[in-house]
Amino acid sequence: MVEFAATEAKKAAQDSAASSSTGVSDIDDAVNGSAQVPQDSDRKSKRRKRKIRSKDGGADEFEGSKSLAKRRNSLHKAARDPRDEPEGKQRKKPKVEESITRSPSPVIDFDGLSRPSRGTRERLEESSEQAAERLEKMRNAVRTILECVGEDPDREGVLDTPTRYAKAMLFFTKGYQQNVKDIVNDAIFHEGHNEMVIVKDIEIFSLCEHHLVPFTGKMHIGYIPNNNVIGISKLPRIAELFARRLQVQERLTREVANAIMEILKPQGVAVVMESSHLCMVMRGVEKTTATTITSCVLGCFERKEKTRNEFLSLVGVNRRF
Ligand SMILES: [Zn+2]
Repeated sequence: MVEFAATEAKKAAQDSAASSSTGVSDIDDAVNGSAQVPQDSDRKSKRRKRKIRSKDGGADEFEGSKSLAKRRNSLHKAARDPRDEPEGKQRKKPKVEESITRSPSPVIDFDGLSRPSRGTRERLEESSEQAAERLEKMRNAVRTILECVGEDPDREGVLDTPTRYAKAMLFFTKGYQQNVKDIVNDAIFHEGHNEMVIVKDIEIFSLCEHHLVPFTGKMHIGYIPNNNVIGISKLPRIAELFARRLQVQERLTREVANAIMEILKPQGVAVVMESSHLCMVMRGVEKTTATTITSCVLGCFERKEKTRNEFLSLVGVNRRF
């Protein structure tokens, strides 16, 4: 009886494999019930076959084909996005792999966090004990710096400096733990407006990632809506989100433009930033009046020179040349 049923199951498997290239998975699908509902008796006999197959190690019958065996393994794994893996598992992965599994978007990740790293998420989700631990670690580091520059860290004037600096540093980099989705907060309105919108002279305070000293300046953001407009105050807030982290001006400009493009899907976005870098003013070449201008134009601003020039003259960047 067992032998007979097993042969029958094998035959059924062969039939199924012959009718479809997906092989093993199809057998289970047929047994579990596909779109076609089999007759009652038919179903019973199939169920019996499956039982017997599993009893006498029916799966072994398929060992002949290695590829089939491999496919069977995959059936037991949920079709999960690697990003859904629990935090603990993700940490074990090497850094390179982590960046591959991230969203293809250049600036906004699947969870609304921008240019995320392991540290970003840790900072966002930390408990109060972990926050205290982080602050203590930073305090010790600043104390070391004070010692290394030749100060006495126990001198009254600088006694609280490590704490103050650690807190200030966390503020300067608060953009790491902000979420673009929270900032935009659905403030996108269908207005049928398709003319250029510009917010200019947005003050920017950011930190140069090479020297950890500030660069400050102004950013001008323009976009041409595709019927939808974004709450006007959201543009400076998006700029702030990307500025409050370690940056280089070129990337900051690009990230703001890409984020707006992604959130709003307008006809085009243009971002220009002019700023003064303290790492250039206070050290290095010590050129105090030098201004660095960066721009990023997307969509129709990139395609149409006339649109681009209109934007540049409206924000007043053209004046200087
Ligand atoms: Zn620098």
